[in-house]
Amino acid sequence: MEKECVRNLNFDKLVEFCKKNNQQEFRARQISYWLWHKGVSDFESMTDLPKKFRGALEEAFYFDNIKIESTNRSKDKTTKILFSSLDNKLFEGVLIPSKDRVTACISTQSGCPLNCSFCSTGKMGFIRNLRVGEIFGQVFELNETCKKLFGRFLTNIVIMGMGEPLLNYENTLEAIKHITNENDLGFSPHRITLSTAGIAPKIKSLADDKKKFNLSISLHSADNQKRSEIMPINKKYDLETLSAAIRYFYEKTGQRITYEYILLKGINDDIKDAEKLSQFTKISPCKINLIGYNSGDSDIYLPSDGKKTEEFMTFLKSKNLIVTLRKSKGQDINAACGQLANKKQ
Ligand code: SF4
Repeated sequence: MEKECVRNLNFDKLVEFCKKNNQQEFRARQISYWLWHKGVSDFESMTDLPKKFRGALEEAFYFDNIKIESTNRSKDKTTKILFSSLDNKLFEGVLIPSKDRVTACISTQSGCPLNCSFCSTGKMGFIRNLRVGEIFGQVFELNETCKKLFGRFLTNIVIMGMGEPLLNYENTLEAIKHITNENDLGFSPHRITLSTAGIAPKIKSLADDKKKFNLSISLHSADNQKRSEIMPINKKYDLETLSAAIRYFYEKTGQRITYEYILLKGINDDIKDAEKLSQFTKISPCKINLIGYNSGDSDIYLPSDGKKTEEFMTFLKSKNLIVTLRKSKGQDINAACGQLANKKQ
């Protein structure tokens, strides 16, 4: 019989397995605790289970453990970690420390199919979706590394690393469930932000599923033609479709959305672009994060200059929008926004 991944089992399946092996239901709770609270990577470590039962688990299941391949630290202490899966697929996580917090940025896919023109990950192409244990494992490992490097645990998680999380919907949500469950990692959903390039039907699904974490949209242009050039996914879900999904999301959840907007010189940084952005964001209460562009390997874009950025920001503020300019971190180690793409892959 082929072994199944133990972290792919839901609780009911664990109970079923326990019963089949003449064990009571509380054993499933014990296994769950070891898996999702202690983050163990083998059955041997589950010391409160009978030895024979551990053997039965060993025979039926395997662990989708991830391995740290390398760690890179930037001058500003941003730390990029390259992970590998059992089948040697690579993906990256980043620790971003600031004065009062440490944020982990995690990946949901190895590579990405969406090919946004400013993004290094997109140029890698799509390798595969990450499994529940591989997404959860990044948070677990980054939390441990955070403690070692910064003397504290993670305060925030952003799902903005490699890949489009809403194209790996089930696994991403199941991982978040284990990250936030009180009996598992117990992380507050209000400190988690999932960022999407705008997979409209799945934004509606998030609203239907009543998810409590924050949602951010990588917008980068409020003009259909420009956005389609920067983000080809806009050809499938254009701004009108996206706006309908955001409206639906807000009506169902009442949650404020954040828009990410990378300022690209001469592409989307004109006052006319700011005007369109202010019109688009009228859909619901929101916050806008303007992001300075980071140079990648094969640059087709340049960062917007300081004066343009200032004017863009002032215009949005004059429309009573909440705007912040995000400082980029970890540029020297290619860990900044849009720069995640490992050379090994
Ligand atoms: S920006 Fe995000 S969605 Fe676009 S290619 Fe990069 S990883 Fe994929």
